Amino acid sequence: MKCSFCGSDIKRGTGQVYAKVDGTVLNFCSRRCMVYTLAGKDSRKFKWVKNQ
Ligand SMILES: [Zn+2]
Repeated sequence: MKCSFCGSDIKRGTGQVYAKVDGTVLNFCSRRCMVYTLAGKDSRKFKWVKNQ
């Protein structure tokens, strides 16, 4: 499973899960990625993001 924001692998039992109103479930490796996504940040602007 990969982080919806930065593309890092998420180990089972770790990370954050967020369910959107429309039913889409997003998985994040960290709270940071979840917060950035919900804030509408563009992942390509962050150096530590892998999936650019
Ligand atoms: Zn991430």
